[in-house]
Formats: sequence, structure tokens, C-alpha cells
Amino acid sequence: MSGTTVIAIDGPAASGKGTLARKLAQHYGYAYLDTGSLYRAVGQAVLAAGQDPNDDAAALAAAENLDISHIDEKTIRTREAGEAASVVAAKPAIRAAILDFQRNFAANPPGGEEGAVLDGRDIGTVVCPDARVKIFVTASPEIRAHRRWLELNNSGSKVNEAQILEDVRERDRRDAERVASPMKPAADAYLLDTSDLSIEAAFDAAVAIIDKAMS
Ligand code: C5P
Repeated sequence: MSGTTVIAIDGPAASGKGTLARKLAQHYGYAYLDTGSLYRAVGQAVLAAGQDPNDDAAALAAAENLDISHIDEKTIRTREAGEAASVVAAKPAIRAAILDFQRNFAANPPGGEEGAVLDGRDIGTVVCPDARVKIFVTASPEIRAHRRWLELNNSGSKVNEAQILEDVRERDRRDAERVASPMKPAADAYLLDTSDLSIEAAFDAAVAIIDKAMS
């Protein structure tokens, strides 16, 4: 492996891991990769082509043609794209197609940064099992659903909170029960429950964990 410092942030949908990981990358001067955006982009591309995310060939074609530099942040953040992402992410061929990109990002962060923060579901277990620090971020399904609802509402999507809670539970089930790289904390991950924490408090707790682990 390279000499870069890798911080792995994993956890379920809307646990706050993305916001946390982005802030940590800024704090330490590291590059940041939201690996969920890769699966979302694949899922969204399948939907945009009018195909079914369950269709193996359609999903694989979308993964192989994925252009990382042209991911449209707005379209991949919709509820539909999130659902399609978790369907394509259960397919081993899709995960294999984007594994190298993720590992390469961690080993050679763009911009020549000394380190990288990656967030996802399997960073600490599969993508970067040698990461210097691993944090698994959780929060109750109700709190995560509320956060996701606020986020979607603020971006103009009119969605029902009860429906979002159902989506969150379904996505947890699909992500945790799949055979290919299921979502689970690495044996050496620190658990961080953000249910009762503000973004700032979660950030402070994560910095304390990382600074201690790296000292
Ligand atoms: O994190 P986010 O909700 O944007 O991820 C969308 C979906 O992509 C997840 O529900 C999960 O199925 C998949 N994913 C994954 N492995 C990752 C990151 C995301 O399977 N490392």
C-alpha cells in the first residue's frame, strides 16, 4: 500500500457520515471521496436510460461507462437514485467495476494530498481494510429518516416522511443483508452514534477519536 493516511467512514443511509467525512477531510487537509455517489451515478444512469436497476447487463454497462468527472450532483441525490443505487450496489460485478477507482483514490489522492477520507458502507471492511482509522457512524432509523426528509425537502422534493422512514429501513435491510460486501462495522472500527449529536458535536467526537488513534 502507499504511504497515504486513509480514514474510513462507514455507516447507513443518512447517518450523517457524508457531512462528517467532508468536514474531516477539510480539517486534516485530505482528499474526500463520497463512494455512495458512484453507486448513485450508476443507478441514476440506468434509470435515465429507461432501464431497470435489477437488470444485470444494464447495470454493468452503466458502471463500465461511468464518467466520474461528469456526475450530476443534483440528479443523483433524489430518492429514486438512492433506491436504484442500493439495488445496483448489491451486484458483485458492479462493486468490482468501481473497486479499483476507490482504492486508487485512497492510494493516490488527487491534488497530491497526504491522505484521503472515504465514506461508504464497506470502506473499512473491503475497500481499505488497512485504513489508519475507521469510524462506523450510526443513528436511529427515525432520526435518519427525519434528516433525509429535511434534506430532500430543502432541495425542493416534496416527499412524505413516513415513506422516507420505510425507504431507510428497506435500504438498511438491503445494504446489510446482501452477500457482496454487506454494510457492517469493521472489527477495528470505532462506533459513533450521532442520534443525539449536532453536526458540530459529531465532528468533535470524530476528531477526538482520530487524533487519539493517530497519536
Ligand atoms: O451513501 P449513499 O446513501 O449515498 O449510498 C447510496 C447507496 O449506495 C447505498 O444505499 C448503498 O447501497 C450503496 N453503497 C454501497 N457501498 C458504498 C457506498 C454506497 O453499497 N461504499
